[in-house]
Amino acid sequence: MSRLVQARRLEGIDKNVWLEFVKLAATYPAVNLGQGFPDFPPPDFVKEAFMKAVGGGNIMLHQYTRAFGHPALVTILARFFGKLLGQELDPLTNVLVTVGAYEALFCCFQALVDEGDEVIIIEPFFDCYEPMVKMAGGTSVFVQLRPKAAETGKLMSSGDWQLDPAELASRFTERTKAIVLNSPNNPLGKVFTREEMELIADLCVKHDVLCFSDEVYEWLVYDGKEHIRIASLPGMWDRTITIGSAGKTFSTTGWKVGWTLGPDRLLKHLRTVHQNSVYHCPTAAQEALAQAFQREFDSYGKPDSYFVQLSHELQQKRDWLVRSLVAGGMKPIVPEGTYFLMADFSEFKSEVPDVPDSDEPYDSRFIKWMIINKGLVAIPVSAFYSTPHKKNFDHLIRFCFAKEEATLKAAEDILQQWSLEKTGQ
Ligand code: PMP
Repeated sequence: MSRLVQARRLEGIDKNVWLEFVKLAATYPAVNLGQGFPDFPPPDFVKEAFMKAVGGGNIMLHQYTRAFGHPALVTILARFFGKLLGQELDPLTNVLVTVGAYEALFCCFQALVDEGDEVIIIEPFFDCYEPMVKMAGGTSVFVQLRPKAAETGKLMSSGDWQLDPAELASRFTERTKAIVLNSPNNPLGKVFTREEMELIADLCVKHDVLCFSDEVYEWLVYDGKEHIRIASLPGMWDRTITIGSAGKTFSTTGWKVGWTLGPDRLLKHLRTVHQNSVYHCPTAAQEALAQAFQREFDSYGKPDSYFVQLSHELQQKRDWLVRSLVAGGMKPIVPEGTYFLMADFSEFKSEVPDVPDSDEPYDSRFIKWMIINKGLVAIPVSAFYSTPHKKNFDHLIRFCFAKEEATLKAAEDILQQWSLEKTGQ
């Protein structure tokens, strides 16, 4: 019977943290610092471009466009990123537009991972990588970012989490097909340094391995840190697929437009997956994003660039949430990038007794309690670890700080009140 109702490749991947916690956030009146989306509007020039696309005179913007990307969008993406990657990009062969970065990732795994192939994933990782590898018939091989102690008197930084070079090297075998790199990293907020990227790049070249580089948070980098594109390192263009997201780039996660950049020899296989699954992405959103990228192209690096403004604003929001968490008694790990941070809530463990034999990690149960009793939503960090490692990191929860001042203030108030109750004041 089970042969009829489930395919083997789906075994064990039916659970999804987002479905569960998004539902909880909607059920209880709570301040939502859970799922990663801004609760502030996209910039006016982006909204206006969309309204012009749907309300302007070009009726063809309501119809199908080119399957692999609307011409105006692939053209500007090729120009924009060609400059950043130091690579001449052909809009027709080196760019593929997808339904968000999610579809871009799915295309990478489906197109290039075969039965028996291994894919190296760096923990903690954006949770969909593992099931996507499985659906492609591959095997995930994990390597961990390991925290070293913070400098005395200082909060831990995401930069204190590092790869052990020998451990990383040991994960490459003759079955390794690809490594997934996510910098800036969700959920930790780590921005990989040039040296760390070079280490990964050297191993990719040495073992003839591909790199799926998930760079959706490329513009959200703080404290003067630099986002390095691994495809721009020697020997890497030919073996890297770079993934981006308009949702993260222009604060429009609901538009679900993403892209991949890479050599034609790899992208042609992604196009095969795309044309046999999604086939085509919404035209009006692509037209609007083409206009938005054109504006950014013209103001790139200048103070009026949205990317520059967004990272300044988010750095302030990060600092606000860090202060609120410290005042409330949690230990945040200060992120160098993304709009997430992980915080250690060990001080609060007495509030929610552990159930040692439970299959559900402690952080997950803690957050459910926190949503219902304190009205604050976060995401369990165990969700970003493979099954054998989940319980080692269940003292951490992830908060999203891409939120309006009012939301951050409400979170601050909850944490302050909680801390007062805890200390009996
Ligand atoms: N990669 C990472 C690391 C992400 O955090 C997300 C979104 N949370 C995605 C990919 C998917 O992006 P999109 O919304 O464009 O599909």
